[in-house]
Amino acid sequence: MLRRERLVKNEEAARAYNNRRVSFELDDEATEDEEVPFLCECGDASCAEAVEMTTDQFIAVHSAPNRFAVVPSHVLGEVEWVLETGEKYWVVEKRPSAMRAAQ
Ligand SMILES: [Zn+2]
Repeated sequence: MLRRERLVKNEEAARAYNNRRVSFELDDEATEDEEVPFLCECGDASCAEAVEMTTDQFIAVHSAPNRFAVVPSHVLGEVEWVLETGEKYWVVEKRPSAMRAAQ
C-alpha cells in the first residue's frame, strides 16, 4: 500500500470509530454542548490523542465526507489542507487525489 493510501485509511478508521461514538452519545441524550473526547483523525496510526468537541461540532465537521477533525497541527500536508483552525481542534480537508488513492 502506498504511504498516502495508508494515511487516508488511518484517518477513515478514526472517523469510523468517532461515528460510533457519536451515535452512542446521541442515544445517551448527552447535553448538546457537552464536550466529548473524540479520537484525533490524523493519518498517524500511532496517534492516540483526543480532540474535544461537542457532538454538534463533530457532526458539522463531518457534513462533508472528505473533512476530518484533528488535534491542532496534526496535519499531513501531502494528503490534506487546513480548513479551519481552533483552540481545541482543526478541521482538515483531504485532497481529492488522496481520497481517490484510498478507494
Ligand atoms: Zn493526531
